[in-house]
Amino acid sequence: MLITDEQRAELESLIELAAHGRALRHERDNPTQAPALKDLVSTHKDLETKKIEAAEVVEKFRTEVAEHAAAIEAQNSQIKKKTIELNDGTGLTSRDLVNLQDEIAGHEGRVAELEEAELGSMEELESAEATLSEVESSLAEVTASGRATQTAIKDRNSELAEELEDNSASAQKLKSGLPDALVRQFDHNVAQGGPGAAIVSGPNCQACGQEISGMAWKEMLLEDPNQTYECEECEAVLLRKG
Ligand SMILES: [Zn+2]
Repeated sequence: MLITDEQRAELESLIELAAHGRALRHERDNPTQAPALKDLVSTHKDLETKKIEAAEVVEKFRTEVAEHAAAIEAQNSQIKKKTIELNDGTGLTSRDLVNLQDEIAGHEGRVAELEEAELGSMEELESAEATLSEVESSLAEVTASGRATQTAIKDRNSELAEELEDNSASAQKLKSGLPDALVRQFDHNVAQGGPGAAIVSGPNCQACGQEISGMAWKEMLLEDPNQTYECEECEAVLLRKG
């Protein structure tokens, strides 16, 4: 089909617009930040697991500290009770007194041991709490990054939707200046997943790669550069490079 110089310029612009439209749709379907968001979601999941583990460790040492404290208190109340008995001394033989003193000393020794163990548990607890707090702040950071990335993807999607709308409107405008049969051929190729039309500078369809026979190419070279062709393979509109 022979087209005018003006239509040729429109068809060339349409090819560019269609290519840009494809790039926009590709980005819409494969958001640039999608892999980053996926990583953040996976990191978040790992950190959630670590947080549960760290919280369990904290709980374990809190229980230990509490158990030591309770044991110390039990020993101290024994010491108190026996000290009262000792100080009272009613009905006690000197042997009983010595025994009581030994028992008190035994309890005091146990308190010293328990206090040391309690101190150890407290140190462990402190370190476990620090680990938990680190995991919690990492988790907060990852959550914030995830939200920011989601927002960025959403914002970019709105931009893309607008750009695609503009792209489609511009394409419609260009198509209105082109012959109906050519537009139908263009749209048909686009519907098949092709670019619609392509400029050829050698004996190959630039839309699908199909080779154009030497004879056909020679004939094309002899014709008006504004003559359009249909690719035998993909049916795209072909226009020789001017
Ligand atoms: Zn082709």
